[in-house]
Amino acid sequence: MTKTTLLQHIRNIGIVAHIDAGKTTTTERILYYTGLSHKIGEVHDGEAITDYMDQERERGITITSAAITCTWGENDIFTINIIDTPGHVDFTIEVERSMRVLDGAVIIFDGVAGVEPQSETVWRQADRYNIPRICFVNKMDRIGANFYRCADMIYKRLNKKTIILTLPIGINNNFKGIIDLIHMKEIIWSNDSLGSTFQINEISNNMKFKSIKYRKQLLENCADCDDNFAETYLYGKQITSKDIIKSLRHGTINNLFTPVFCGSAFKNKGIQFVLDMIVDLLPSPIDIPPMIGKDANGNKITRKASNQEPLSALAFKIINDKYGQLTFLRIYSGVIKKGMTLLNMRNNKKIRIGRLVKMFANKRTDVEIANSGNIITAIGIDAITGDTLCDPKHPIILESMKIPPSVITLAIEPQNKADQEKMNLCLHKLHKEDPSLRITTDKETKQTIIAGMGELHLEISVDRLKREFSINTNVGNPQVAYKETITKTITQEGKYIKQSGGRGQYGHVYLKIQPNKPGKGFIFESKIVGGAIPKEYIPAIKKGIEETLNNGIRAGYPIVDIKVILLDGSYHDVDSSEIAFKIASSIAFKQGTLKGHPILLEPIMKADIITPEDSLGDVIGDINSKRGKITNITEKNQLKIINTHVPLSEMFGYSNGLRSRTQGRATFTMEFAHYKKVPINIDNKIININTT
Ligand code: GDP
Repeated sequence: MTKTTLLQHIRNIGIVAHIDAGKTTTTERILYYTGLSHKIGEVHDGEAITDYMDQERERGITITSAAITCTWGENDIFTINIIDTPGHVDFTIEVERSMRVLDGAVIIFDGVAGVEPQSETVWRQADRYNIPRICFVNKMDRIGANFYRCADMIYKRLNKKTIILTLPIGINNNFKGIIDLIHMKEIIWSNDSLGSTFQINEISNNMKFKSIKYRKQLLENCADCDDNFAETYLYGKQITSKDIIKSLRHGTINNLFTPVFCGSAFKNKGIQFVLDMIVDLLPSPIDIPPMIGKDANGNKITRKASNQEPLSALAFKIINDKYGQLTFLRIYSGVIKKGMTLLNMRNNKKIRIGRLVKMFANKRTDVEIANSGNIITAIGIDAITGDTLCDPKHPIILESMKIPPSVITLAIEPQNKADQEKMNLCLHKLHKEDPSLRITTDKETKQTIIAGMGELHLEISVDRLKREFSINTNVGNPQVAYKETITKTITQEGKYIKQSGGRGQYGHVYLKIQPNKPGKGFIFESKIVGGAIPKEYIPAIKKGIEETLNNGIRAGYPIVDIKVILLDGSYHDVDSSEIAFKIASSIAFKQGTLKGHPILLEPIMKADIITPEDSLGDVIGDINSKRGKITNITEKNQLKIINTHVPLSEMFGYSNGLRSRTQGRATFTMEFAHYKKVPINIDNKIININTT
């Protein structure tokens, strides 16, 4: 780094949007105005700087997050790290992983469509991480754009108090610029293709009345949330734009409200204002609460954003390119220097930092040191997404990100048998980048199975094998990732005793096996007292069960949400061994779960369908026939929005079906909701298929 950026001058932000709202275009413009990029690459030309991957260009969606650095403000005093976030719900993990390291976000809305179902999804994700956000209503040049309606929808649909900071001047083709209500000025952009020239004027007469009305609202809203400001305002003292920004910053950072402003990224109008608001209103690393983690003993510890604190950093993104593995790190405390040795808390291994680089959209710059609060990329280190790296003398595990369950699986094999090993290696590389892509081998068929969050997720992973690693594959049909569990508590004895001839074996246990709460996974507890079984055998007993979990009860699907309590047992001084107890516990577990009224669980998806009214009946009928439950129906712009819960097994190929049912006029989005018991008639069918 050529200069040290003070912590208060760093902004780690995300640009979050519904697909097609204009995130890529806005990011491009931001990079252009901050001086990094010298050509504006239009999305439709496939030249988007943030789009790393070929297939993203083809599909026109941004799948992976890239971290890009740019600077803004007088003397480029502010460093803005933009962590790109994808808009497609199949890639929620990508959104989650970037949300985890963001300090603030710009949410982009399409000025015509307003708040769309996916905007709600990403908004909820930002809520979960308590991320301060500012809203940019884009596409003001489009016919039908309505800034005020969109601001109102943000307030009503997203339950957030909004503060309007700008007014549009002109509409649709005539959209010229904005009224900046903070400075009470009019900003008119020229119609040149780059939009870098603009004029700041006094507000023209025809907008004066409206501007005064909205300025008053802005000041009242600030006063409502900020006592200091209220005092100045109510006593009629002089209010400067600095006072307003200070108050807006306070309210935004504390999530008391969300500021809303407008523009047109495509027509290069309003982007400089977006940049000003990023630095003026969104938090720096010292404005957010200190990072919480756990030490090696599981005790809570905090780390402040400061170069003086011990180092803690989170690997939030892995990319493999021709130079090797790039690990994107968010430094929460301390500094990382070239040549330093860090500890990876996942495997307790030491890592030497050989090369550190700052990533720009189209170049990377080597740096010697990266400070607290920053985003930096380490080259060639061994890490996977979600790892904590820290000072070996001050170990800490930072809270990792939530990785959603895999709901769909696919058998995959290389077209060329000789590629088998290479394929497995590459799949593991992909898993390092994206822990929600899981890889296993089928015990019986020895086939490689990949599991993920949706059809598109797996389709893209298979595509990446081909494009990035030149491995052509054959894949089976996607399968639902069912799970098994029990519904009744049982106590079961398990014995593995052989005492005639040769070395004897003696393992004997009593297990209480009971259903666990949904989502709680597997829990093991020992209630052995008085040495009925010596302590050293207990881990083997747990292991015997763990190794059986993946074999299922009736149909070979993984067993979940189960609690096992080791109640009693016996041992033999000479013949007992770890292996004997392991076998005894797996026998007890297998027999016990069969008696525990086992059931199958299936993934239920939350699907939101948007359809014209005349297809409503058809779409609903179809969802009902798919065992779907309609949870809500609302209306927007003469379109009906149907919120549903539907079993994933019924939704394969749904997009084609929906398209033909509605002549291509309906769209839908889908994400995992929860696992639920499979109805008995369907359960029987699945068991029959799996056992014949
Ligand atoms: P993303 O999916 O959110 O990244 O959206 P893109 O930036 O790819 O934009 C989607 C489409 O909307 C592209 O065809 C853009 O050219 C277009 N677009 C983006 N911003 C604007 C805008 O301000 N006005 C108009 N008319 N079109 C825009």
